[in-house]
Amino acid sequence: MKVYEPVNLAMPLAKELDEIIMERGGVPDGETVRRILKEFGLEEACLGRGVTVFRNGDVIALLLPRGDVLMVDIIPASGELSDALEVIAYRDKQLNAFIVEILPANDIEYEGNIGLEPAIIDAETLELESSPVLGHFEEDEEGLFLVIDRETYERWKESESTDTCPVCGGELAWKGEGAYCRDCGYRVKVVRE
Ligand SMILES: [Zn+2]
Repeated sequence: MKVYEPVNLAMPLAKELDEIIMERGGVPDGETVRRILKEFGLEEACLGRGVTVFRNGDVIALLLPRGDVLMVDIIPASGELSDALEVIAYRDKQLNAFIVEILPANDIEYEGNIGLEPAIIDAETLELESSPVLGHFEEDEEGLFLVIDRETYERWKESESTDTCPVCGGELAWKGEGAYCRDCGYRVKVVRE
């Protein structure tokens, strides 16, 4: 897994949070998120009052406990705030569902919809009721690509939005089990588990 910019961390983090919620039926606590961020190769930089800071050479992640709402802000180490993202997970009492979504920290210039849809997980059955398109990033000689697993791909196909880039909302051009986005330059590859 490669993390060079906020989206490279936000998408796999959101996917991991979805899976934990479906397994445990609750919003993961700070300690769980801390473990995930370390597994993703980030180092804990400091433990402030109520905020934990993680970083690698390219991104900084702030874990912000807010009662029942889990928030992780991800900022490029360059300080380019227009690329900053926030991953949030909470229980929506009206929908009786857990929601995990990726939001721009600065939404003024923002146009895309990362992951295409927020994860909506029924709080009773713990089933996924939406079709988020999330994965992690790998790198080859041509650069970074988003890895989509078979299950995510099947749901994505059913939602009839495979022409839309899950990273930026642009248009995807498919060739076999891979696609390329002319807008953000990311490639998408579908893998078997
Ligand atoms: Zn794109």
